[in-house]
Amino acid sequence: MNETILLIEDEPDLLRTVVYNLEKEGFTTRSAGTGAGGLELALQGPLPDLVLLDLMLPDMSGIEVCRRLRSDPRTATVPVVMVTARGEEVDRVVGFEVGADDYVVKPFSIRELLLRVRAVLRRSVTDSTSSDDRRLCFGRLRIDSAAHRVWVDEDEIVLTALEFRLLLTFIDRKDRVQSREQLLDDVWGVHAGITTRTVDVHIKRLRTKLGKAGHYVGTVRGVGYRFSLPTEPAI
Ligand code: CA
Repeated sequence: MNETILLIEDEPDLLRTVVYNLEKEGFTTRSAGTGAGGLELALQGPLPDLVLLDLMLPDMSGIEVCRRLRSDPRTATVPVVMVTARGEEVDRVVGFEVGADDYVVKPFSIRELLLRVRAVLRRSVTDSTSSDDRRLCFGRLRIDSAAHRVWVDEDEIVLTALEFRLLLTFIDRKDRVQSREQLLDDVWGVHAGITTRTVDVHIKRLRTKLGKAGHYVGTVRGVGYRFSLPTEPAI
């Protein structure tokens, strides 16, 4: 399959080790040591299948790089895995808020990294080649699942692969309460080290993006979330 991974990392030793191991596993890699260099490769070269993005770069933060990837239509849905150091919990949460799909914490083992990368790639392939070609209408929401497009009323909104999968999971199980643990299992697939807080952060972002349909995702206090069409108040 030879998927291409773009590495944006300024530590040469770490970069070398990761490149060596990813290529040994059959991936094609491209790499940049700065945020600007990484953005240039992502936006001007062939689209990578995944971006592995260090949080602390010499010229700008990984957060900013991720924000820029997400705001450009060409790279808006490319999966991003953030690489953070221990103790950067706050930054990690911000990373999810700006659209990272997953993260690994330094120091990480190559095995863990490969596990994450494969899980994220698998999700993104499932999302883009789903035979489940559905056009759904749900209240103000209109979804074309094959084309990976969502509209709220007449306005199209851009969701990351993960957010899209989260939305479809909710819709498949509408009116049923989903626990955070269940969502982690079904949407993220692999969750060693991912806390249920991650689920909350992604749902918050999904709600914001859904705008006028955001309240379809309801919080069931102490249990989890439920997606449902609120009954309009009787006049
Ligand atoms: Ca760094």
